[in-house]
Amino acid sequence: MSSIRHIVAMCHAHTVYGTAFASLGKPLEPISQDACAFFEDHVVIGDEAGKVAVEVKDGNKVANAFKDVKAAIHQNHGLLTASRQSIDSTAFWFIALERCCQQQLMIEQTGITPKMVTEERALQPRARW
Ligand SMILES: [Zn+2]
Repeated sequence: MSSIRHIVAMCHAHTVYGTAFASLGKPLEPISQDACAFFEDHVVIGDEAGKVAVEVKDGNKVANAFKDVKAAIHQNHGLLTASRQSIDSTAFWFIALERCCQQQLMIEQTGITPKMVTEERALQPRARW
C-alpha cells in the first residue's frame, strides 16, 4: 500500500491501439527496446475485465495493481500508467505504452513469430530510465 501512496500521477484513456490490445488480455512481449521498458514492469488486469471502475472498491483493485509496476493493461477497457516522479513521466509512459501496443499488434498481423529480446537484455532499458 505504501508504494501506491507514492504515486503522484496516473494516466488512463481508451486509445485505439491500447484498447484493441487490451481485448487480448495478455502482456506486451519484449519485441523491441521500447517494449523492454515495460518488461516485468506492467500487469494485465483481467479481473473485472471490461468494467469501468466507478466504485471505490473497484478503483482500489486497479490501484493495487500498481504496487510494483508503472503500467497496466486493463482487459477489455484500456491502458493505465502511473508515476512516482511527475505528471510528465506518467504521460510519457502512457504514450510509449500506446505505441508499444500498436507495434505488437502490427507485428502479430504479419503472422511471423517475432524474435524476442532475451530476459537479461530486456531488463537493461529499465535500468536506464
Ligand atoms: Zn476507462
